[in-house]
Amino acid sequence: MKKNNVELIWSIGELSGLFEKRTNMGGFLQDVVERIAHHMASDVCSVYLYDEEADTLVLRATYGLNRELVGQVQLRLGEGISGSALKELRPIREARASRSPRFKPIPNLGEERYESFLAVPIKRGLNRIGVMVLQHQRPDFFDVQDARAIQAIASQLAATLENVEILMEIHGSRAQPGEVTREAEPRVFSGRPLSEGIAFGGSVSFGQRTELIHAEHAAGSDVEHGLERFRAALRSAQEQLETLQVEIEDDFADVASLIFNSHLLMLKDDEFSGAMTREIENGVSPEQAVITVVNRYVTLFSQSKNSRVQEKTQDVKDLGHRLVRNLSGDADVEGDYRDQVLLATELYPSELVKIAAQQPEGLILQDGGVTAHIAVLARSMALPVVLCRDDRLFSQPDGTRLLIDAFEGTIYVKPEADVVERYRENLEAAKKTPAADIPEITVSLDKERIQLLANINIFHDARAAQANKAEGIGLYRSEFPFIVQNTFPSEEEQYRIYRQVITSMDGKPVTMRTLDVGGDKILPHTELRETNPFLGFRGIRFCLAHPDIFRDQLRALLRAGEGADLRLMLPMISSVDEFDSALEILNQCRSELSHEGIAHNSQPQLGAMIELPSAVEMVHALSRKAAFLSIGSNDLVMYMLGVDRANERVGHMYIHYHPAVLRVLKRVAVAAGRARCPLSICGDAAADEKMLPFLLGIGLRVLSVEPRQLPRLKQQVTQISVRDARSVARKMLGFERVEQVRNYLEADAR
Ligand code: PEP
Ligand code: MG
Repeated sequence: MKKNNVELIWSIGELSGLFEKRTNMGGFLQDVVERIAHHMASDVCSVYLYDEEADTLVLRATYGLNRELVGQVQLRLGEGISGSALKELRPIREARASRSPRFKPIPNLGEERYESFLAVPIKRGLNRIGVMVLQHQRPDFFDVQDARAIQAIASQLAATLENVEILMEIHGSRAQPGEVTREAEPRVFSGRPLSEGIAFGGSVSFGQRTELIHAEHAAGSDVEHGLERFRAALRSAQEQLETLQVEIEDDFADVASLIFNSHLLMLKDDEFSGAMTREIENGVSPEQAVITVVNRYVTLFSQSKNSRVQEKTQDVKDLGHRLVRNLSGDADVEGDYRDQVLLATELYPSELVKIAAQQPEGLILQDGGVTAHIAVLARSMALPVVLCRDDRLFSQPDGTRLLIDAFEGTIYVKPEADVVERYRENLEAAKKTPAADIPEITVSLDKERIQLLANINIFHDARAAQANKAEGIGLYRSEFPFIVQNTFPSEEEQYRIYRQVITSMDGKPVTMRTLDVGGDKILPHTELRETNPFLGFRGIRFCLAHPDIFRDQLRALLRAGEGADLRLMLPMISSVDEFDSALEILNQCRSELSHEGIAHNSQPQLGAMIELPSAVEMVHALSRKAAFLSIGSNDLVMYMLGVDRANERVGHMYIHYHPAVLRVLKRVAVAAGRARCPLSICGDAAADEKMLPFLLGIGLRVLSVEPRQLPRLKQQVTQISVRDARSVARKMLGFERVEQVRNYLEADAR
């Protein structure tokens, strides 16, 4: 059949008018997709609508795909071709969808056989309303004309859909997301992956802070027997917690040292266990005694204005659950969460560590205010985590089987056997990369030496760095022990942590970044709340304003780096003055340590991160002063483009291949090259395969990425010739529009 765009546009206009007589939005949308498919001679036409509150696109009507999945298929903004079209607010046309890195075929929807893909966003003013998707078996079926026609239709439809909502509101029946087509509760949810992996298990909710705990009571027991059972439960709890503490101490000492300490202290505290004993002596069952006292503490702690006290609320509840479980006899010494997937509304970093220590399969988080360190920690602890705001997922009863695909951000509720099986296979395949094959050193196709280092966050990552053959550490984010332990560790404590990291690298260079708090890495205990944290008291500013804290850290670093190839790196440097002030404090620390006769590294290299436009302007001076420079592209992109790296609403504008960013990267590389100052890049752009030729082309020879990215990156470097990379860079630097760079990078990826 032939396409007829003009007739189509006319026909949809008429359809919009017809809608006002209807009451069923699902039926209306179905008419729309069928009519469009017919006029466009398209095999498939579907409409996804955007649920702003849940931040997901939901399939609302389809012609040509499996209609049983209407209302169930969900995509995040930016996910798949359709999610990307809505995120970037532009039509996306793929001649061969199966070759597109964005294509994400949804299980059982039946789209694998359709090669041509046209996704057009439906928007009205600033509002994202949805996406219209056309698919066809024949490759390259849709042309620019088709995209324009669908855009015209989409804008007409947008007005109608908005009117529909208004009409429904006037009639007092505003459409609720779940009611639009009156289908069953969704079985597939879409979220944002925070930490990669696959998890499958029964759900368990990690409750709200003020939620009370419940338990089955063993009725009719006498006081003496009750007291005996309670004491036994206390003893077991103590043994279990001590075992857990010892187990995690080995791997996670820097962030988990004494992490169960408050549980153990509370167990011994007479106010706590004593109050329970007294309740039992008054004839209350041990279970009820635990619940009563725990709830009293939960209320007390959760109402506290002090975040340190609030943070203990979950500890008390954990302890209550443990005691009740011990009383019921089904305690698990290994911890509570094996074979389970946790659902949590919000989480402190310390809670994440405690949870991870108890080895759940995965975690689903609801809170949108989750800060970067939760994601980073979860990645370090290899815990798959997805962020999903949909309340319907969080209202599932405990024990519901959940499968998390935390690569894609998909959550399956009660998945069918074939879905579980398919993921099992994926999991097995993913485990098959033998570390033995990873080369120690990396050279490009034309034999240029490229040094690949690791970004690490906690000590545990240093092992992954070694296993993946990092040539050293290019960035150690030293703030995690501070954030997780919710305190400023002493010089001695820090020394032990840093020493462990540095010695584990067997003499390879180790770049320790000094404390970079503020921005999205808030220290809970500073009680510091700023309107613009990214423009506030961050990184080196915090350290220079708190020389005592800075000194403790520098002394600990110098001592820990004794005999090692130690590099110290200053974050958020905005001026030569700041660099000099930090250098002065470092020199003082060195001479103090010498005077005190304490062994330390007396000649560490001091480098600066290039993360701010002001540092770029001063890069000539900085590259003469600093022993090395490292580009923190995560922040540099943010400050160059004025786009908050943590704000999803402007996420589509956070583009590390923006022409302005490319030019700045080049300027920094040239300046560092002229001053013969070693330069590396440690932001996420370093791990982007498509950016790799550009980075090598402008002269970067040292890249630092997450350990698990190393094997892939090493492999990719070997396939690039630096000579060719130079001409790629020249070409990319010639572009003035983001679109041109994007098209160039995408064409290259094919
Ligand atoms: C960066 O800004 O690129 C960087 C590596 O530092 P962080 O992500 O810790 O701010
Ligand atoms: Mg940074």
